[in-house]
Amino acid sequence: MATLKPSVDITPKIPKNIEQSRINNFLAPNGQFYSMGIRQGLWTERHSGDPYVKLSVYDVPDLKRITFKEAIGQKFEPIQQHQRSFGPSWSTHWFKVDIIIPEVMVDHPVVFQWDMDSEGLVWSTDGIPLQGLTGGDDQARQEYILTQNATKDQEFSFYIEAACNGMFGVGDNDAMVPDPNRYFNIKKADLVIPAYSIQKLYYDLVIIQGIAYDTNQDSSRARQAVWVLNEIINQFIINDPTSIDKCLNLSSEFLAASNGEGEHQITAIGHCHIDTAWLWPFDETKRKVARSWSSQLDLINRYPDYVFTASQVQQYEWLEELYPDLFRAIQEQEKLGRWEIIGGSWVEHDTNMPSGESLCRQMLLGQTYFEKKFGKRTNVFWLPDSFGYSGQLPQVLKQSGCDYFFTQKLSWNNINKFPLTTFWWTGIDNSRVLAHLTPADTYNAMVTPSELYKCTTNHHDIEYSNRSLLVYGNGDGGGGPAPEHLERLKRMKNVDGLPSCKPGQVIDFFKNVEDNSQKLQAYKGELYLEFHRGTYTTQALVKRGNRQCEVLIRDVEFLSTAARLFHSNNISKQSSYSYPTKDINRLWKLICLNQFHDCLPGSGIGLAYVDVHKYHREVIYESLTLRRKAQDYILFGEEGHEKKQSGNCIAIFNTLPWTRSDIVSMPEKNTHWSDQQWKDEHEYIIVESVPGFSVAVFPSQSIPRVEPNEGVRAYQQDSGEFVLENSHIKGIFNSRGQLLELYDKHSNRGNLVPSGSKGNILQLYEDVPTYWDAWDVEIYHLQKYKILENNESLKISANGPLRAELTFRQDISKDSWIEQNISLTCLGTFIEFDSAVEWHEKHQFLKTEFNWDIITDFATYDIQYGVLRRPNHYNSTLDSARFEVCGHKFADLSDANYGVALLNNCKYGYATHEKSQRLSLLRSPKGPDENADMGRHKFKYAIFPHNGNFESSDVVRKALEFNVPLSYRQTNYYAGPKTFSPSLFSIDPPGRIIIDTVKLAENDQDQGKTVILRIYEAYGGQSRGTLTSSLNINTIQISNILEDDTNNLLTADKDGGFTLNLTPFQILTLKIQLN
Ligand SMILES: [Zn+2]
Repeated sequence: MATLKPSVDITPKIPKNIEQSRINNFLAPNGQFYSMGIRQGLWTERHSGDPYVKLSVYDVPDLKRITFKEAIGQKFEPIQQHQRSFGPSWSTHWFKVDIIIPEVMVDHPVVFQWDMDSEGLVWSTDGIPLQGLTGGDDQARQEYILTQNATKDQEFSFYIEAACNGMFGVGDNDAMVPDPNRYFNIKKADLVIPAYSIQKLYYDLVIIQGIAYDTNQDSSRARQAVWVLNEIINQFIINDPTSIDKCLNLSSEFLAASNGEGEHQITAIGHCHIDTAWLWPFDETKRKVARSWSSQLDLINRYPDYVFTASQVQQYEWLEELYPDLFRAIQEQEKLGRWEIIGGSWVEHDTNMPSGESLCRQMLLGQTYFEKKFGKRTNVFWLPDSFGYSGQLPQVLKQSGCDYFFTQKLSWNNINKFPLTTFWWTGIDNSRVLAHLTPADTYNAMVTPSELYKCTTNHHDIEYSNRSLLVYGNGDGGGGPAPEHLERLKRMKNVDGLPSCKPGQVIDFFKNVEDNSQKLQAYKGELYLEFHRGTYTTQALVKRGNRQCEVLIRDVEFLSTAARLFHSNNISKQSSYSYPTKDINRLWKLICLNQFHDCLPGSGIGLAYVDVHKYHREVIYESLTLRRKAQDYILFGEEGHEKKQSGNCIAIFNTLPWTRSDIVSMPEKNTHWSDQQWKDEHEYIIVESVPGFSVAVFPSQSIPRVEPNEGVRAYQQDSGEFVLENSHIKGIFNSRGQLLELYDKHSNRGNLVPSGSKGNILQLYEDVPTYWDAWDVEIYHLQKYKILENNESLKISANGPLRAELTFRQDISKDSWIEQNISLTCLGTFIEFDSAVEWHEKHQFLKTEFNWDIITDFATYDIQYGVLRRPNHYNSTLDSARFEVCGHKFADLSDANYGVALLNNCKYGYATHEKSQRLSLLRSPKGPDENADMGRHKFKYAIFPHNGNFESSDVVRKALEFNVPLSYRQTNYYAGPKTFSPSLFSIDPPGRIIIDTVKLAENDQDQGKTVILRIYEAYGGQSRGTLTSSLNINTIQISNILEDDTNNLLTADKDGGFTLNLTPFQILTLKIQLN
């Protein structure tokens, strides 16, 4: 009888669901049928303990992290694998591992497996870090390859530096609060032989399984994949090499079918996201970098086309300092194109809260380092995990050598899906960078068929650009790709049923997009993250530290520049003053480090904040010292300042670019200035017309007195309300500290507080997010709050004529209270609320609310070198999703003719809805830092009513003055640098084009010849101004944030000034060469 071809299948066809269960069981990592599946065959011949694996240990005392050299000098005690546990959390234990190959492993590859449920680093006996190890089941990396071919009685020795923390620290609950007493056991210290052919089959099956079930299940490819999987299970006999060969033939044949020419193209880049501090402190990060990057160097050697990228220049600098061998190896691989330097910023910083200058310095520090150590800058800005992206970033990036931007964080939006994948991100000034948000929605991709498929289904712009970037590897706690990722990638480069996915550099991905796309959509303004809105407020001390440091270092740079230039003009004398380049650089590095995206936003553990606060204190203390030194030199020159510090003159330093008058509070040292008004040990004095970027010296007899009828007053009305009043404004308060009425005497607007409402309403909201405690305040918190108004304690505490003040206190709970001094000065056009809070709450959110008689449909917020308008209504879900937003020094609510700005000196969270304007003051999340924000807080805010809309107002200027106080020195002498006469730099008209930073150029090398000015247009309109200086200017180049030399020169006007034309929100860096 002739055989039928094709033959008759004599078994029934298997229903889909049953077939899927069979396949899942076969590939499962555990479960009741594990012993019949493929996974139990991946490793064979397991051996541990004496005589093959001998362990000895040195327990490092006091949670110290010591060097290899220190460690190997210690006495190691022999230990059995299960003898005891190791801890507590954050402690370090150095193991020496001595191995003798068992007879049965001779002529085989041998792998050492180590699992302590924690992180470790393998060191050679001569002190070379070889690779990282990660225990546990999640993101595991447990294999260290000893040899591909063991010989008889072969011996191996190495060290493991075991850290008693997991990849994600030592948190043990959802809140991620660290457990200080975790102990770890050695679960595995085994020798095994890898069963390479079964491993190969296993990886094949994983890909085929993905095609079968994670792509379009109705496609012919998916259905064939199911058939092949089932057939392989039918053929599989674990100890029979012929059966395994048959299976491999089936799987290889299936995977050999390649995809078509029009297939989606994915560039796969290996990466490990290492949070610079988060659920662990900075010091652990330094070791995470070594563990992660040594593992990647090892994989680069083992997989010939593997490409890896790492950002965060601070991490490179740590590595260079602590692990120079690894650093050199990275430099070599970078040259070979296998290691891509990326990002360009000092750390992956938050971009909501750092100032404009901070954003510039992140790039200046980062790119300069890359240039110095790798001979090049990066063109790609890399910020996959930060919590939203400032609308001023595109311009900062363009001026820092970055044309491309990568992130994915907007996929975390919990209200609206972000509509674009590959697009022109357009800043508030219209600068554009090419942006890509990986459609895989993760920077820790696992290289699975489902992720590749998602790159096509979730790509919003595939009709414009048929490409995506897959950023893969274990991350957040570091790690990076493991061999399994690379095995999967190897099989998916070109296989029918999946997009093409090839290893490559990120820069090449972007260049491909550029070369192969006809058009792309554009997206204007900030990339607001609809999530993590609590991070503008959590860990208030970090926010305060950040603002203080930014303000002080600016003073230091300007005054040091001035002192250095003063010295240049006095070259006849031997000067002791030099520009503190090194110190300033070091302080900026600390400021930038603390702006990391889990530090400044407040989402780290308490242990991380010990360092963060320490660094901020260091910056503040050293900045004050440097400022004083510069001021001394400016005041006393070479004459020295001994004996001259007391006296009857007061020197006022104005580091803002316009003339200022203000009330200054001077410490009393038996000196009587105008003898008019005192508070405690301080006397209030009025200082008038201090020129911008200058110093003015006032002899005591020149300090004016304020006539009582010209001064400010505090008084109680017959009706019981309290009034603060000067010649500009009048505010009326009730005894609870709430603002009842506000009048601007230069306007006919009448009472600015709408009838029936109030201002300075202190509100306490219940603040229970859905999961991420320190990060999130949720939309429903707005529905549940109480007003703090039980105490009617307000009293007059100062009654002018220079400063009038009302003081009150409200209890927040039995443990917490707030006390405020509400004040107005005789010159003041704003009312200040100086607050002290004792805060011991749990899941409560403190805010203050003001209501204004203003009808508009947007509010204006201060951001970096510009402002942003956001809606003040909930029309669409895009609007309501912005129920809490980030603003820097002010938020303004104006109609066409009038407005009020709410200023602050260290806060970042605002909420404006219709007529009400709220400033977020304090939160009280309990994880990952269970003590976040507990204790004493001090902060200030102010209300500034103004004629005209925001654009015609002085709000920017007022907010800067509110944040940058005049500084003073008492003296009886003044050498009087002529450089200051009247101003070092000024722009006419002042206030719209603003000079922010004044510093010596990076390449000035203390010559005092090259000065950098950072200037910006603050209101969003084309503006013209004239720059003048008291210095002898040779040339002015239009440079950029990296201070590059250009041929673009400004020419001087006839009268010596330089005309500047700025476009809206333009950042202009001028490089000034002095004669
Ligand atoms: Zn992160």
